[in-house]
Amino acid sequence: MRALRLHGDRDLRLEEVENPPHPGPGEVQIRVHAVGLNHIDVWGFRGMAFAKRKMPLVVGAEAAGAVVAIGEDVTHVDVGDKVALYGARTCGICRACVEGRDNLCENVGGIMGFHVDGFACDFVNMPQRLVVKVPDEVSFEDAACAPIAFGTVQHMLFDNARLEPGESVLVHAGGSGIGTAAIKMAKAIGCTVYTTVGDDEKGEKAKALGADHVINYRNERFEGEVRRLTKRKGVDVVFEHVGADTWNGSLLCLKRGGRLVTCGSTSGVSTTMNLMQLFQQQYRIFGSFGCSMRNIRESLDKMASGLSPVIDTVFPLEDFAQGLERLESRKVFGKILVRF
Ligand SMILES: [Zn+2]
Repeated sequence: MRALRLHGDRDLRLEEVENPPHPGPGEVQIRVHAVGLNHIDVWGFRGMAFAKRKMPLVVGAEAAGAVVAIGEDVTHVDVGDKVALYGARTCGICRACVEGRDNLCENVGGIMGFHVDGFACDFVNMPQRLVVKVPDEVSFEDAACAPIAFGTVQHMLFDNARLEPGESVLVHAGGSGIGTAAIKMAKAIGCTVYTTVGDDEKGEKAKALGADHVINYRNERFEGEVRRLTKRKGVDVVFEHVGADTWNGSLLCLKRGGRLVTCGSTSGVSTTMNLMQLFQQQYRIFGSFGCSMRNIRESLDKMASGLSPVIDTVFPLEDFAQGLERLESRKVFGKILVRF
């Protein structure tokens, strides 16, 4: 079968490798149809000195496909089913896993496509508990955005920040894969959405998704704009993933008692923080990583009811590296997918 393997920093090769064996007990074999690209792929591609991993490594952390074979004792999916795949090798036996909160697994074996072999190959074997059935009306491309992009946003906004209808939310980088999903999910429950973008063209697109207020952070300080637009009250929730560059500005955008939820630090991992502001303003800060199995099902249900992901580009497998370059360039609006 074909597999896209990383041999070293920025050295990605499309190669022929052996097919996986017939699935063992409790395992299913999936023919991969679509892989979603995420920033974690870019970090992996660039090389991260602290990540323990063995090369060559099949890339791809987020995918959907069809079940082509099942092992013994597989009960909840069958051959022919469309499925989305959980992107981490979680243990399945710790308390968090048993409760379906796999992103809190105590013995996680690694993130697919980053620490261990991922999904950018024709066939992959997975434990049945890490595959989620996809409703018929959801395409492979859309379903491939459920395990990371949509699942992460679902977990951030609703499990962690507990966003309620009618509240206000600032979504950073409204043109990103998770930014576009956050705008759509927040609008779907009737929130007022403020979002930041790096150019006016993205601003127009964010407005078309339903964002109420778009701020071009290259022209204006976003924290000043949010405070002006909210008449100095601030927003209920800030959806963070930019990191060092925006952290303190994000806190300034919050209402007293507001919630900040973050899943990323693309602009840098360290910053300083005013602790007096933190307790006096009674901010609540949530770190969020990945999602639960339930969040994937919730995401797929949203897609089935018409809340589909924004897709920037679909690349053929051989152009995977081009997809990563496009993601790195920040010219993207929505998700980049690789089709098999
Ligand atoms: Zn576990």
